[in-house]
Amino acid sequence: NVYTNDVLIGWKPPLDSSIKVDSNGYFLNLLEGKVALITGAASGIGEETVRLFAKNGALVIAVDVQDELGQQVEASIGSEKVTYHHCDVRDEKQVEESIKFTLEKHGRIDVLFSNAGIIGSLSGILELDLKEFDNTMATNVRGAAAMMKHAARAMVAKSIRGSIICTTSVSACIGGTGPHGYTTSKHALLGLVRSACSELGAYGIRVNSISPYGVATPLACRAFNLEPHEVEANSCSQANLKGVVLKARHIAEAALYLASDEAVYISGHNLVVDGGFSVVNCSTNSVAPVYTN
Ligand code: NAD
Repeated sequence: NVYTNDVLIGWKPPLDSSIKVDSNGYFLNLLEGKVALITGAASGIGEETVRLFAKNGALVIAVDVQDELGQQVEASIGSEKVTYHHCDVRDEKQVEESIKFTLEKHGRIDVLFSNAGIIGSLSGILELDLKEFDNTMATNVRGAAAMMKHAARAMVAKSIRGSIICTTSVSACIGGTGPHGYTTSKHALLGLVRSACSELGAYGIRVNSISPYGVATPLACRAFNLEPHEVEANSCSQANLKGVVLKARHIAEAALYLASDEAVYISGHNLVVDGGFSVVNCSTNSVAPVYTN
């Protein structure tokens, strides 16, 4: 089996499998019958995940503050599968209301993909803007906590063995890969994931996170003032794993796995999608053999 342009060529499910794939080898029905709420769904990783979840049979509530983009995502997939709903995750009332909206529309919630996030500006610690720091924490941590609280309440009330997934970052694992407020928020978010996991396991609810490396989304382009191809070139040159360009699609596939019953015993896990970036330091790679002719 070979990956070309992020498609696994030649992979076929076993003959007796209930898993369906399309002609490109993409999964088709891993979330049949499930209801998923995705935040940060109007753009980037969230949008890609809305598309993949819908393709896999989920009914999706796509939540964001960018209404025009969110409505375009809904229209491009079809309102029978995806419903856009405005929600600023910094406001607990709006968060609670979006869970209520999900329950009224579909009667249940099986999956929360808490993915909305902002990065903030690249200022040094000596010039740290604490208002911006607070806003990053309010969005990336407090917003995720509010979402988790109200989604978990709904799951517990209906005895649903749900899956909660948060988008953290390589900035949850190491320092120096983003602004200070962002790195702080993503470390805190990983702590929240582990803490909630310790409680929600008793109800059969799994809580995990995904830590992506650099993906060319509006967030990354704005933060580093780069065009998408420049973000990708930058990621490729810094990456440990060569020969693959990291795309939002790869993160969506990780979310699909964690949301599905394929990951039935996986909880408290931080799925790092970084090709090894955060666990190696190639600048001191003294163990690599040096081949000479
Ligand atoms: P993006 O900007 O394309 O998408 C983020 C979405 O979140 C936007 O649509 C935005 O409107 C929404 N959002 C922001 N604040 C919100 C709020 N208060 N309420 C509701 N929605 C809000 O960026 P992306 O890269 O797809 O980001 C998705 C997640 O991935 C973020 O949590 C980000 O930190 C994380 N991440 C991204 C990268 C990367 O390189 N792109 C790397 C690691 C982690």
